[in-house]
Amino acid sequence: MSVNQDSTETTAQAQVKPSDQAQPAKHFPIRGVRIAIRVLVLVLFLVDCIRLLILYLWAQNMVSINFGRPQLTAGLSPLAGLCDLWTWIRTGRMDPILPASMTIVILGLVMSLIFKRSFCSWMCPIGTIFDGLGHIGHHIFRGIHVSARAQKILHAPKTILGIAVLGIVMIVIPSSVIISAWSTPFWAVSDMSVLRLFVRPGVPIIVVGACVLGASLLLGRNYWCVGLCPLGGIYGLVSKASPTVVVRNPEKCINCGACSKACINRIAVDTSTKPIRTVDCTGCLDCMAACPKEDALELRAFGHTLPLIAAPLIVVAVWVGIWAISLAIGAWYGTPTTALIEVGLTMIG
Ligand code: SF4
Ligand code: SF4
Repeated sequence: MSVNQDSTETTAQAQVKPSDQAQPAKHFPIRGVRIAIRVLVLVLFLVDCIRLLILYLWAQNMVSINFGRPQLTAGLSPLAGLCDLWTWIRTGRMDPILPASMTIVILGLVMSLIFKRSFCSWMCPIGTIFDGLGHIGHHIFRGIHVSARAQKILHAPKTILGIAVLGIVMIVIPSSVIISAWSTPFWAVSDMSVLRLFVRPGVPIIVVGACVLGASLLLGRNYWCVGLCPLGGIYGLVSKASPTVVVRNPEKCINCGACSKACINRIAVDTSTKPIRTVDCTGCLDCMAACPKEDALELRAFGHTLPLIAAPLIVVAVWVGIWAISLAIGAWYGTPTTALIEVGLTMIG
């Protein structure tokens, strides 16, 4: 739903009752904690991107050292992760080359099931970059007004693309094809081939990238995550079942509109009468951080109010828990041989 900030604020301010006094924020510094976790994940990811780049250059005899194969960059191949997960479910066989891509997809799915699309707003490095662009765009252009109807249309592609990707992975591609692909050189360098697209982008990538960047800046929001990312679309569908939601308490709300203004996904929190279950909610809790009125917004699960500190605890516990399980069952470190990587690199150029 679109939020016309000016009209929302004007209407909302007129509705504030004199007896309603905004109380000082009681908040646990949820926004700062979320940004700290995002920055940590972004730094870890960028370090692994540099390691992968060095391995790429080493395999092409352009540098003499390498620091081994990183694992976080397996997240660059989410399609491989989805294919691996479905193959694992169907056959019990696990990708021996890049199992971390499956583990990262599982992490996103579990986080979505427990706490909305929290993977998107608390961890995903691509989301962090596009959120930054959205904020920059919001400060420059103040976010151009988009009608509710146009916003629905703009937000729909991610869900349509997500369903299409799921259909291809679950119905079109046989597991036997994926299992055969594991032993190919191309699979061994699938993360490198994605990284290469960013380092040496072709014209189609430059055009698509410029459109997404332009949309994020002009619309003043993270348009990649809210409108286009197929993985975000899948996580959004899963998040519909999440018990952890933001709920507005109309009796406490002073209708100031600060929550809707803070929501980078432009969800109309200030007029919500039901728990926020839309596929667009990424569980960032910026609305709660912005709300000046005690208990006007609550984080709830199974009918119980959760303290704000529960959010980072859930995120970190799921992250560490799934990573530890993946280590224990061999779903983190892959074993591509140097020879396979070298042949793969020759293929992708
Ligand atoms: S409704 Fe609140 S938690 Fe959901 S995306 Fe908007 S600001 Fe974040
Ligand atoms: S929920 Fe909080 S921020 Fe949103 S309109 Fe009500 S008082 Fe303002």
